[in-house]
Amino acid sequence: MEHRYDYIILGSGASGLLLAYRLDRDPYFSEKSILIIDREAKDTNDRTWCFWEEGPGEWDSILSHEWGSILFRSQEYGSDIAIEPYRYKMVRSAAFYSLSDKVYFLVTQVTSWKETGQGAEVITDAGRYECRKLFSSIPAMDVNPKTSEYPYLHQHFVGWFIQTPGPVFNPEVATFMDFTIDQKGNTRFMYVLPYAANKALVEYTLFSASLLTSEEYETGIREYLTKQGLSDYTILEKETGDIPMTCYPFWRHNSAHIMYIGSAGGWTKAATGYTFMNTVRTTLRLRDFLKKHDDLSAFRVRGRHWFYDLIFLDVLWHNNASGSNVFSSVFKNNDIRTVLRFLDETSGILEDLGVLFATSPKINFIKSAIRNFPRIIHEFVRK
Ligand SMILES: Cc1cc2nc3c(=O)[nH]c(=O)nc-3n(C[C@H](O)[C@H](O)[C@H](O)COP(=O)(O)OP(=O)(O)OC[C@H]3O[C@@H](n4cnc5c(N)ncnc54)[C@H](O)[C@@H]3O)c2cc1C
Repeated sequence: MEHRYDYIILGSGASGLLLAYRLDRDPYFSEKSILIIDREAKDTNDRTWCFWEEGPGEWDSILSHEWGSILFRSQEYGSDIAIEPYRYKMVRSAAFYSLSDKVYFLVTQVTSWKETGQGAEVITDAGRYECRKLFSSIPAMDVNPKTSEYPYLHQHFVGWFIQTPGPVFNPEVATFMDFTIDQKGNTRFMYVLPYAANKALVEYTLFSASLLTSEEYETGIREYLTKQGLSDYTILEKETGDIPMTCYPFWRHNSAHIMYIGSAGGWTKAATGYTFMNTVRTTLRLRDFLKKHDDLSAFRVRGRHWFYDLIFLDVLWHNNASGSNVFSSVFKNNDIRTVLRFLDETSGILEDLGVLFATSPKINFIKSAIRNFPRIIHEFVRK
């Protein structure tokens, strides 16, 4: 059977659904036929997305919790920091997945797709589909950023949603990064999101080149909780993640009629793994771009923060144990609002310079900048 659509979106995760949501709500696209294909029905809480923003926001009606302060802790520095006017917000994926219901949705395995010159073709277990434009959050088949010349780290973690018999957490403060755990030659920290006085998500997280066994993450969480004096708790749910941290230029695989979106399109902030807010903003830009332009390969993804992330990843790639030092210097030497804007890629150039010059160990950054100089020039000249 053959089917034709204006737009096909591969993958109904954060980026696929957000793009569909944007198009669905804009009258300009009301006559366009849109199909989303995913191998899963996507109705469970398989992700917990957190992000920060100033004041009220677009997703406030589906927030599970929000915090006005964050805690940063390491051997060098520790502080409970009020982030006003920002709020740190949490959305559970099931609430988000239920938002986009109008667009046609097909549950099947996608096996391949290709540019046809006039559009794109998608082959699935349920048949062949054609479209004018294809947006794929499934990574291009022939792409392996891990073997490219760009440093590649995993942001990997296991999280436990736990409940204690009595109140032990402060639901006003999210532990953003707690580096006071044994680093074992890597960048390792705990991420704790208390969403009630007796409930929290506790994640053992690494930025490193290799994954751990599941027992190692679980032992890490158990030991941390014991250190906090917590031994009586019930594990309600578990969450695992492996987010790519790379400056690989995924967008080079875009063509006139095919665009890679979400993590597959390089929309994940390489230095932090945060993707949600970037996807919220990028889908808005993409929606407006589609009204004026035809060639999808002309859509610009990379900004100057790409260069900073490249240097940062290179530093962690060559000195994986230095993450605690680096983040401590960033949080200690800068105003938190500047840090949040910098990490969110909304900072001005003077703010960027302030953060960059306050970051240590400087020698690592200088070496990294020298090492990556040819690559930076190459990318700069390219576009
Ligand atoms: C557990 C977890 C927690 C995270 N927390 C945060 C956070 O707090 N803040 C933040 O900003 N980011 C977070 N991230 C990172 C990022 O926001 C998520 O990974 C986000 O879901 C990426 O969206 P995406 O659309 O690129 O990919 P995905 O959401 O992974 O969507 C890709 C979709 O493609 C489908 N698919 C893949 N292959 C095929 C195939 N062959 N055929 C059919 N369908 C296919 C998959 O089923 C999937 O639904 C988190 C990631 C994880 C894993």
